[in-house]
Amino acid sequence: MNERDKTTVSRMIAIYCRSKHRSTSGICEACKLLENYARLKLEKCRFGESKPSCKICPIHCYKPDMKEQIRTVMRYAGPRMIFHYPFAAIMHLFNGRKSGRRFK
Ligand SMILES: [Zn+2]
Repeated sequence: MNERDKTTVSRMIAIYCRSKHRSTSGICEACKLLENYARLKLEKCRFGESKPSCKICPIHCYKPDMKEQIRTVMRYAGPRMIFHYPFAAIMHLFNGRKSGRRFK
């Protein structure tokens, strides 16, 4: 498991929730579920530290609806994290480095 990835996911969900769901303290229940799910997936990922980006991962471990949700969060929060985190590190999570496509 990768602590940096988990922190990144949590921060992105928090950014998303604050502006989209207008939550004032912490994140809402729905986002909490999504966060737990995403963190669990990172933890259970059998590739561990050498994990490839999820997009090129041969094992599509996300349920389709959760995948859609996390992608929505990434699309929204990704560009807003650029000042706090190395952009490449974030994009690596859900985009293959070899692929030039983003969030298609
Ligand atoms: Zn929310």
